[in-house]
Amino acid sequence: MTVRVRFAPSPTGFLHVGGLRTALFNWLFARKHNGVFILRLEDTDQKRFTPGGVKAIMDGLLWLGLQWDEGPDKASLRRMQTNEDYDGAPDAGGPFGPYVQSQRLKSYQDAAGELIARGAAYRCDCTPERLAQVRQEQIARKEQPRYDRHCRFKSPGEVDPDKPHVVRLAVPLEGMTTVHDLIRGDIAVDYGKLDDFVILKSDGFPTYHLAAMVDDHAMQVTHVLRGDEWLPSLPRHYLIYRSFGWEPPVFAHLPVILNPSGKGKMSKRRAQASGGKFEESVFVTEFRDEGYLPEAMRNFLAFVGWAPGSGIEKEIMPLDELIDLFSLEHVNPAPAAFPYDKLDWMNKQYIYALSPDELARRVYPFLVDAGLEVD
Ligand code: GLU
Repeated sequence: MTVRVRFAPSPTGFLHVGGLRTALFNWLFARKHNGVFILRLEDTDQKRFTPGGVKAIMDGLLWLGLQWDEGPDKASLRRMQTNEDYDGAPDAGGPFGPYVQSQRLKSYQDAAGELIARGAAYRCDCTPERLAQVRQEQIARKEQPRYDRHCRFKSPGEVDPDKPHVVRLAVPLEGMTTVHDLIRGDIAVDYGKLDDFVILKSDGFPTYHLAAMVDDHAMQVTHVLRGDEWLPSLPRHYLIYRSFGWEPPVFAHLPVILNPSGKGKMSKRRAQASGGKFEESVFVTEFRDEGYLPEAMRNFLAFVGWAPGSGIEKEIMPLDELIDLFSLEHVNPAPAAFPYDKLDWMNKQYIYALSPDELARRVYPFLVDAGLEVD
């Protein structure tokens, strides 16, 4: 079996360093197993689409040296019409393209149709007014608000496929199952607590749940390594796989990255210590523009939530050694702090190790940017 992993960001803005860490773990895992690293753009939520978002993702990956083996080709990128400049990006393509979700809509609509035919999903034409009313009544009864499955038991044809409707997954009405996460272990799921969630919206666009699973299957993804924030969605994703009769991939949810204090998710915030004079960076471009070396960043990020184990203490590690030692068994499920001072220290070690010529080459653009004349 060839290991196939994917990094599947939504191009909604700058690339967060947490996203880059997810990409790095996927890439290390692929390289370690001589596998395939896929870049897939999840742009079906058109409202959240930001011009420049695709370029930020690609620039960030390439800056860190995380070349993808399969991914959007130039023609697909141009079809996104974001007027971004992809000149530096490789024209990857691959056997399962396009690797841009907005260009795969038909496959999601077909997949929803297949689930309806299998009796695993159904059309729902409840109006927003009805849904709001049901919700209010449930809240008044102190019940957990959720769809009341009104359309699930209608006779076939009662919901007109040519009139506005959504498609919902028919979640088993009761029972328990177990889903497995490679880092977290077994997780018990009570079907009774799940909603008949929407998989295809009334505009014909899939929800993230359907699109990601249909693509993971179509692209023969073997391992889904992604951020912890997706763990609550895991039961739904298992159900989608099972509803098609497909074997789910291995799932591994990577620990969330916290502020250096270990309190709170890492996000844009004023650094207390500096008296509010500077903001701690969270976006990849910020680290790049501040002069962090990509090899230092890569080495540092590998250790955010992972350690080689077996008594290996050193943390400055050449790339081939990182690839060799990387394993999901040693990913720590606990939230991982992002110690900026350690990053600074590591960056310094990498700078010390540069030859004078190489150092000059790296410093040069910063001097020019600062308006200094350098010959
Ligand atoms: N598009 C999702 C994101 O932006 C990807 C989640 C996943 O990897 O399944 O994080």
